[in-house]
Amino acid sequence: MLGLMQDWPLLCTKVLDHAATYHGRREVVSRSVEGPVHRTDYATLRRRSLRVAKRLEREGIGLGDRCATLAWNTWRHMEVWYGLLGLGAIYHTVNPRLFADQITWIVNHAEDRLLFVDLTFLPLVEKIAADLKTIEKIIVLTDPDHMPEVSLPKEVAVYEDWLAEADDDFAWKTFDENTAAGMCYTSGTTGSPKGVVYSHRSNVLHAMAAVTPDMMAISSRDRVMPVVPLFHANGWSLAFSGPLAGATLVLPGPRMEGEAIHGLLQDERVTMTAAVPTVWLMLLHHLEATGGTLDYLKRVVIGGSACPRAMTEAFQTRYGVEVYHAWGMTEMSPLGSICTLTPEYADLEGAARLDIQEKQGHPPFTVEMRVTDDEGTDVPWDGKTFGRLKVRGPAVAEAYFKGEGGEICDADGFFDTGDVAHMDANGYMQITDRSKDVIKSGGEWISTIDLENLAVGHPDVAEAAVIGVAHPKWDERPLLVIVPREGREPSRDDILAFMAGRVAKWWLPDDVVLVEEIPHTATGKIKKTALRDQFGDYRLP
Ligand code: ADP
Repeated sequence: MLGLMQDWPLLCTKVLDHAATYHGRREVVSRSVEGPVHRTDYATLRRRSLRVAKRLEREGIGLGDRCATLAWNTWRHMEVWYGLLGLGAIYHTVNPRLFADQITWIVNHAEDRLLFVDLTFLPLVEKIAADLKTIEKIIVLTDPDHMPEVSLPKEVAVYEDWLAEADDDFAWKTFDENTAAGMCYTSGTTGSPKGVVYSHRSNVLHAMAAVTPDMMAISSRDRVMPVVPLFHANGWSLAFSGPLAGATLVLPGPRMEGEAIHGLLQDERVTMTAAVPTVWLMLLHHLEATGGTLDYLKRVVIGGSACPRAMTEAFQTRYGVEVYHAWGMTEMSPLGSICTLTPEYADLEGAARLDIQEKQGHPPFTVEMRVTDDEGTDVPWDGKTFGRLKVRGPAVAEAYFKGEGGEICDADGFFDTGDVAHMDANGYMQITDRSKDVIKSGGEWISTIDLENLAVGHPDVAEAAVIGVAHPKWDERPLLVIVPREGREPSRDDILAFMAGRVAKWWLPDDVVLVEEIPHTATGKIKKTALRDQFGDYRLP
């Protein structure tokens, strides 16, 4: 017997309808690419998204068509998302920080038909446009007053002029909730990038899970600033979870340096924000240098790579901002877990609390987790035995676009994340490494993340990375690479003495090298592959 409830497909446009109807005057504030701060609200954003959909339809865009964006977080980028979603077309966020030939490859692979581009990235697009085989038209996200001269071998439109050619007398199309909604390529540190294809249903369910109190805890009283770009892992879903909760949105546009972020956090009274650790490093340095404070911010979601203990401590003790350490991946829409404190840990204080907050936390209802050994047997949940982290759920990828990479889930439907982790008795997961980064020394595993977290706790260290270097006796031994803080020059012995006693003796790096800069990936993570190339032949003492 079937239930007798209504069939109400979980479509992304319903999220915006809800925001516009019940939270219509809630603001969407953006730092525009042109410079000034722009203000709109959900009701207006919805009307403009309807116009986008109507105009796109005239362009011949419809169900299943992909359109690329190379754009910062602004109201225009959101309108384009929702406009596409309203037709059953697919937003494809492209990360502009990738190399030009990677961008070309991705756009061609996705067979994108239109390209929406911010002014910032016009020089890049001028370079690659001729190679973008399927792109029919390039729409520059600006108004006629700011449109520069461009030389492009494609049809070009100025967004505001293009949009002015349609009104908002339009109704969203309806279709099955499993219809594709968006696409995001993983960075492809091994092999070619692979396209993850979200559905309307997965996006809506994911947003519902993300806003819950033990996850990002977003409500209509929040003023949320997604610093994480929409092009990084589905924008951590904030373009959906924000409106779903009726929260005010503050979008930072192109400026992510400490001063700009601090300005918006304060001026716009932001209560909740989210980004990768590198962004927060810039903010904390700025605050330290200027004596700035965070008067409205209540919590900061930090994920994408491990949040160092020193960062959690700085936010919480110096600035009174609670850190929500989060883990996820593009393939998971992206939320996998958040370290909010359940009753077992909620009363902990000081160092004991920070110990728990180094963990990536517990999953939302929509994510099932397993940690197994190489044979697929679950390891004990004892907070120390690590193994392969596998996940299953309605917002977890089942396959990549065009079947690249073949079958990616096991017989039970679990996806192997490529991360190495352990679980504790309370269901808190902690990542110890990516399986390709973990160091195997004398047959035992050493967690590079633990060593990095420890090293950045040293007052002279700004950033740290640990890689395995070949060793005649132990196969691999850890090498610690650090960027010292400005004006400091810590010695190897200094650093090792600081770390000694805080990790097993045989985990201590064999050597420490100082560098001016550590290479980062397009999503702001330490690029271990580049470091390994750089130090592959390093001779340990
Ligand atoms: P990209 O590599 O393109 O940035 P993702 O954002 O999907 O792609 O990367 C997901 C990976 O990032 C995870 O599999 C994990 O290795 C790492 N990661 C994400 N969050 C954390 C975290 N809080 N701690 C440690 N690693 C993390």
